[in-house]
Amino acid sequence: MCYARGMNNIDWYNIVRELTEKLVGIQSVSPGKGEIAAAQEVLHLLQADKLATAYTECGLDALEADLYGRSNTYAFIRGQSPKTLILSGHFDTVDIQDYGELETLALNPTELVARYTELLPEAEQTSDFSDWMFGRGTVDMKSGLAIHIALMRHFAALAEQSPPPISLVMVATADEENESAGIIQAVKLLLRLREQHQLEYLGAINTDYTPAQYPGDPHKYVFSGSVGKLLPAFLCITPETHVGDPFTGLDANLLAAECIRHLSMNDKFCDTVPGQVVAPPVTLHATDLKGHYDVQLPFASYFYMNIMTLTTTPAQLLERLQSQLADVMAQLLQRIDETEKRWRHTRGELEKIAQSHPRQGDIITYAQLYAETVEKLGQERVEAELASEWQRWSEMLDKRERCLHLTYRLWKLSGRQGPAIILFYAPPYYPVVAPAPGALQNAVDTVVANHPEVELVQQPYYLYLSDISYLRLDQQEDLSALTTNMPIWQNETQTTQAGGYTLPLEKIQRLAIPTVLNWGVAGRGAHKRDEAVMMSYSFGTLPQLLYETIHNLGEYANG
Ligand SMILES: [Zn+2]
Repeated sequence: MCYARGMNNIDWYNIVRELTEKLVGIQSVSPGKGEIAAAQEVLHLLQADKLATAYTECGLDALEADLYGRSNTYAFIRGQSPKTLILSGHFDTVDIQDYGELETLALNPTELVARYTELLPEAEQTSDFSDWMFGRGTVDMKSGLAIHIALMRHFAALAEQSPPPISLVMVATADEENESAGIIQAVKLLLRLREQHQLEYLGAINTDYTPAQYPGDPHKYVFSGSVGKLLPAFLCITPETHVGDPFTGLDANLLAAECIRHLSMNDKFCDTVPGQVVAPPVTLHATDLKGHYDVQLPFASYFYMNIMTLTTTPAQLLERLQSQLADVMAQLLQRIDETEKRWRHTRGELEKIAQSHPRQGDIITYAQLYAETVEKLGQERVEAELASEWQRWSEMLDKRERCLHLTYRLWKLSGRQGPAIILFYAPPYYPVVAPAPGALQNAVDTVVANHPEVELVQQPYYLYLSDISYLRLDQQEDLSALTTNMPIWQNETQTTQAGGYTLPLEKIQRLAIPTVLNWGVAGRGAHKRDEAVMMSYSFGTLPQLLYETIHNLGEYANG
């Protein structure tokens, strides 16, 4: 294990601690102008002490057509081998308003530490927190980025005499807490670097937030892949009617409520793999489409749901929702039939009871509705109607709302009658990254085995949404069920219309990074006011383990 020799005397702890404090000191709430300053600071920290020319390449990479004028920061060191490791992390954070009266200290760990008990739940206020640094961005994830900067600086300083054993690319991204525009830009940079310098990517290590998994958990975690996310939306349509005679129609909110009751917080919809289970679905928004008060029943209602995925594909989810909601609809309509009979009986409307038929409803996907309407009216007419609907709304309109308006317009155009539920997808979409074998995974296995004292545990999926979802997409993954059911989806080759949603799926597939890991800093309270990073592991141990991983990859690449 020659790579372990002579590598234990780098003072990672103090270097990473100082870098972390500097990064935390810069307000970089996403999306916003503060991210520009953060990108510049990352560049400054990489280049300080006359290291600017030590990198093969180093600089800012502007986000294309970005409303805020933001950039990523990147650095590349050509090593002894074209085999390359990618180090990734984000420099943006969530807002700091949750700190309340301590808001002015949220970015100042040194001052915040004197007041940290005010950030903690009462039961924990007497615990020992001497190993923790508090503040916004400490663990999500400026400390993780600080590790990458420290590693890059270390190898850059030596590069002239002794280049690193493998090539290294670091990308520090904007917008992770928002729409991941930074990492999507980075995909293009990584393709460009690979082509220009003839590199071969072995994998990527992201260093985002990893919390304890239970109180007192002594373990630290490495995740070999990442959870994905789909946002299915549901437009519930019912025949119009008046409050005085609801049975000639149906309350659209009741239909939506029955669906939500069935789906929300239901663990039957949780993807599982041995030892891991995702969070259950929840609604992120639900409303009817009435704009004002009147005594008509709402005849259109809609909601969308957050669904985390490990193994379920967009096509499988739609299929499952369609069949489950068919049952929900059938049960609801049967109940309404029975209620109506009772109600009319009391009113003596026996003739109406005799004439009534059992209610029926449809569950249909956007793609099915589109195909059916095109068959009826022709593609040109349908496209023209949808284009005019698109134009009716400002380009700043929420992307989910635009999907809704387009779906509703298509429904009206179809000439169908409710009750019906139209299923469609809305953005964002986070691809699942499945764990994959390879040189990087082997190197990590070796380092984990060499350090039993750290109590590292490897798990298949990082269960938080993160940038790494956009670093790998399986070639065989069929996303047509996603793209044909998302009304504002635009192909990479199309000129993008304002308000549309697109992902560089083909580029991500072409990038084909074999292994994408999250081996992150340890801490607590991400996105909350007790956010804090565990310093001993995150500043001292983890940088050393990543350093050893790089040397282990070097043995493989040059060996
Ligand atoms: Zn993060």
